[in-house]
Amino acid sequence: MLTKLQSMEILENFSLKKYNTFGVDASAAYFSTFNSSEQLNELLNQVDQKMHSTFILGGGSNLLFTQDVNGLVLKNEIKGIQVEKEDENFYYLKAGAGENWHQFVLYCVNNNMAGVENLSLIPGNIGAGPMQNIGAYGVEFKDVFYELEAFHLKEKKIVRFNLEDCSFGYRESVFKTRYKNQFAIITVTFKLLKQPRFNTSYGAIEQELERMNVQEPSIGAISQAVINIRRSKLPDPAEIGNAGSFFKNPEVPTATFSALQQNFKGIVGYALPNTQVKLAAGWMIEQCGWKGYRKGDAGCHAKQALVLVNYGAASGKEIYDLSEEILKSVQSKFGVTLEREVNIV
Ligand SMILES: Cc1cc2nc3c(=O)[nH]c(=O)nc-3n(C[C@H](O)[C@H](O)[C@H](O)COP(=O)(O)OP(=O)(O)OC[C@H]3O[C@@H](n4cnc5c(N)ncnc54)[C@H](O)[C@@H]3O)c2cc1C
Repeated sequence: MLTKLQSMEILENFSLKKYNTFGVDASAAYFSTFNSSEQLNELLNQVDQKMHSTFILGGGSNLLFTQDVNGLVLKNEIKGIQVEKEDENFYYLKAGAGENWHQFVLYCVNNNMAGVENLSLIPGNIGAGPMQNIGAYGVEFKDVFYELEAFHLKEKKIVRFNLEDCSFGYRESVFKTRYKNQFAIITVTFKLLKQPRFNTSYGAIEQELERMNVQEPSIGAISQAVINIRRSKLPDPAEIGNAGSFFKNPEVPTATFSALQQNFKGIVGYALPNTQVKLAAGWMIEQCGWKGYRKGDAGCHAKQALVLVNYGAASGKEIYDLSEEILKSVQSKFGVTLEREVNIV
């Protein structure tokens, strides 16, 4: 059924299956899209009284719908990329939150704007980047972030956030904690280098550049190397439903890591500057025997234990229940509590 509200269409009982990379068949009581903050405001004015909740959707690549959404799902489709200003060292590039992240990375690479090349091929849209401070291959969103504009869903006003305001951490920001579900991110301005600083030390980038026969690194070559590595390692949601790493890599004090090393030979951890050690959650999950496990259509990927998958008809609840079993077994074997990276809805 279709309800027409002024120029905005609100669809009822709308299937979200194509709007989440897990391919989970949940539905939204009400669904619409917006391509400007004015449209968003108009939608909120129309529905505020009768809706219980508003959920802002991007590309659906970092969430798990465990039930139908009994409220309004609004898909952000704000587009546009433009240079706001530049100085001797940087371009300040402003982008609409509904722009596809990887297309944005390619735009930067093609225009010699450096800093995001290591973040190539991460699925989803720009607006979700600050939510969890996306990161890969030694670079995080915060490293290229300048400021953003977000629309306060209740107060109906635009608020600006600078780097400090966002309190970025490892897959964290104020938008995931203090301001959860309070803002729609509208635009993000990035600070991109005119002179690239190559970051090739992480993962297999150097080996891949060698394999590609690259003599002189460039941001284009690094982007391509990252794309190649990711394609070879990560399951493609177009082929098998998933949302990337389901759990975060937990951080523990160095002393805890030393104790774990005594009991578990080969446990994988990376020292952090703050006397903490980041444990490889995938290794622990694998040690608990989950890698390749399948129950119905919910499973733990055969090559990447950190990635939970939907082989076709799994419900969000079944995938969530599997994650709960995994969490409990890691807790019981290692005494370490995993935290979900994926947003549970
Ligand atoms: C194969 C695969 C690989 C991945 N690899 C990585 C990786 O290497 N590194 C990494 O960090 N992540 C990775 N991810 C996770 C995911 O791609 C990112 O978290 C991405 O930023 C999510 O974007 P999205 O638009 O799909 O967000 P969605 O899934 O639509 O939303 C995620 C959360 O952000 C909120 N949100 C989205 N847009 C807005 C907005 N405009 N305003 C306010 N809130 C908003 C939603 O409400 C939700 O809570 C991977 C996912 C997959 C499927």
